[in-house]
Amino acid sequence: MAISQYQLEGAIRHGYNDATFKCPVLIADGYSGEDDLRVDLPEGLILKETYIGRAVAEADSMIILGHARGHSITMYGGVLKQLGIGCQSKRGKYITHLAHWGDPHDAIGWPKFTDGCPGKACKFAQMCDDSCPRDAHKVIEHGKEWWPDRCRLCYSCQVTCIFSGMTGVTFEENYFPNAMIAHGDAALGAMKTFEKGKIGFYNFAIDVVPECDCFPWAGKAICPDIGIFASKDMIACEMATLDAIDAAPIIPGSVAAEKGVKIGDDKFKIVNGFSPRITMNAGEKIGSGTTQYKLITYEPVLTPEHAAKWQVRDFNKQPAVTVRLRKVFKNHDLVKEVQPFKRTEFNKDWVWNNWKTFDPK
Ligand code: SF4
Ligand code: SF4
Repeated sequence: MAISQYQLEGAIRHGYNDATFKCPVLIADGYSGEDDLRVDLPEGLILKETYIGRAVAEADSMIILGHARGHSITMYGGVLKQLGIGCQSKRGKYITHLAHWGDPHDAIGWPKFTDGCPGKACKFAQMCDDSCPRDAHKVIEHGKEWWPDRCRLCYSCQVTCIFSGMTGVTFEENYFPNAMIAHGDAALGAMKTFEKGKIGFYNFAIDVVPECDCFPWAGKAICPDIGIFASKDMIACEMATLDAIDAAPIIPGSVAAEKGVKIGDDKFKIVNGFSPRITMNAGEKIGSGTTQYKLITYEPVLTPEHAAKWQVRDFNKQPAVTVRLRKVFKNHDLVKEVQPFKRTEFNKDWVWNNWKTFDPK
């Protein structure tokens, strides 16, 4: 089974399919994640090139729908992450995570094995051995052996160990803030495949969970639902979203509450380790947008036109359903034997304030 088939299966399980979207669902980098276009990034702070899924790179315009929530590598994910990871092909994602082909020692992403591994006594030892697609590590009696020349920096061992709650393999120091900047570089690569003004960004600050949605343990939302942010500027959209999340109250029982986050604090910095503004400031530096924004809020206002939406019609062109039904009921009146509503009688002994006998107060 090719990668794209697994992805489509996952998408369908999450309710993303042609019928619900009313448009085709495509895996943008093809059958095996290798159908892409290379983009030069001379502006990039870390990446100097990246690879964009061909279906994205060849599109005329794009609307990005981002879910504002936390993330264990980038600390936060919104619209920028949709470009910096979502639009990248397999090799684009690989370098965005700071992995390289060739000598793994060139990359900051290589696994850092610690003394925290109990070896065969670890209850995840078999899972850990099975996690490596290159057979590059093995759990031994009191620890772990690793053959770096076989390693291709796939992160499978780190993810297996860390997400099992163990401490035998972790990431190199400085990995996370550098990965945050790199995914900002890659986002610019995706933007460069579109003409200026041909991408629109929407952040849904709803169910703002501390972790990525792809985890079943994404956690309890750290603040109440805020709303939807829209902009043609990616960084401005992200900054407005982050500022609003930081200004929002903290949900009791969430990890933010457990960590003592206060209203106005940089929530994702405290919850996940680094400020998401590292990515946004770096993105501004390379020309991906501006951290300055003017927030225009829209609250639904009750007008005859808005109210008409409940009558399922276009206010100016079409009579309301109720007005159209008048004709039907008029016909009923003309045909005397049609009695759609027969007169019924209520309980004669009932007094209209009897309901009070049931009122607990
Ligand atoms: S990073 Fe991937 S290839 Fe390298 S040792 Fe870990 S699981 Fe194996
Ligand atoms: S999951 Fe971590 S602690 Fe357990 S065997 Fe693997 S490296 Fe060691």
